Amino acid sequence: MLENNFNIKSLTSFKIGGKVRKVYFPTSVDEFAEILKTEPDAKVFGNLSNTLVSSDGYDGVVILTTKMCNVDFSGTRVVADCGIKGPKLAQLAAAKGLSGFEFMIGFPGSLGGNVCMNASANNQCISDKLVSVLCFDGSEVKKYTKAQMNFAYRHSVCMDKKLIVLSAEFELEKADISVINEKMDMNLKFRKGHQPSLALPNCGSVFKNPEGDSAGRLLDSVGAKSMAFGGVHVWENHANFIINDNDGTSLDVLLLMDKMSSVVEAEYGIKLIPEVRYLGGNNKIEEELCEKLLIESIKNLK
Ligand SMILES: Cc1cc2nc3c(=O)[nH]c(=O)nc-3n(C[C@H](O)[C@H](O)[C@H](O)COP(=O)(O)OP(=O)(O)OC[C@H]3O[C@@H](n4cnc5c(N)ncnc54)[C@H](O)[C@@H]3O)c2cc1C
Repeated sequence: MLENNFNIKSLTSFKIGGKVRKVYFPTSVDEFAEILKTEPDAKVFGNLSNTLVSSDGYDGVVILTTKMCNVDFSGTRVVADCGIKGPKLAQLAAAKGLSGFEFMIGFPGSLGGNVCMNASANNQCISDKLVSVLCFDGSEVKKYTKAQMNFAYRHSVCMDKKLIVLSAEFELEKADISVINEKMDMNLKFRKGHQPSLALPNCGSVFKNPEGDSAGRLLDSVGAKSMAFGGVHVWENHANFIINDNDGTSLDVLLLMDKMSSVVEAEYGIKLIPEVRYLGGNNKIEEELCEKLLIESIKNLK
């Protein structure tokens, strides 16, 4: 499926974003690979839960993978398409008595986004049980081993070079279904109070934790919980989350991030590095803010 001049706002977890010139929604790995060959400049996203899309839109091509949800189980091996959402994959594995995906129950990332970001929670991360990733490198489809993926905290090789995740293979562990479900329930319970639900539009943690510290603690100590800008504000329960109060814009978010980051830098001399990524290009002020804040602007990447 292809949409032209598509308003992407409702598909982002922030509920922020303007029109994108062309958006593809492939339904299979083969179709996805074909589109990647014919649209070499396309930017790939999953569930847009870690991406701030400019309210002024993006004058380019985007591929959204969320209609690619095939999963194959064979004993303890699992091969899943990049578009499947983490919570769904966690539930499918749990129903088969397979442990390793419990952490994904509580946040909305797609498998491809989770691999690209090396997503983690509750002492588990996506790379723990990963065996290999089927990738498109700009010219051909290749299998990458876990070692070749260069996983680190919120980092994978997908951020260093043009590498698109098509599907990923995992080796999970057999476990009692009730134990797996209990672990997932505990993960969900922990989130309540610590992380906003999607009923409050947000993009998860705004800044990465600096080595040996927590971005939330630093931000809290400088009074970030009372900060707001335009239609967005810092969440009252945890200072590393920004909530969109319905009519917030991407510029509001970036200006608030600038305020948060500047105060921490002035107080502690620590430059917080954003976890959230940005897609835009039609707004010069936003581009300048991204550069200042060291936000990865996807337009300038793969
Ligand atoms: C309420 C909430 C809670 C959250 N909690 C957590 C948490 O506990 N832990 C955590 O790690 N994150 C958390 N997040 C952040 C987010 O869900 C993760 O970063 C997730 O991995 C992003 O997946 P996505 O599909 O939404 O990625 P997108 O936002 O769609 O994309 C993020 C990046 O991945 C790239 N990408 C997407 N798909 C592919 C692909 N197929 N191949 C190559 N690159 C790709 C994009 O180009 C972009 O650079 C949370 C977010 C929210 C809203």
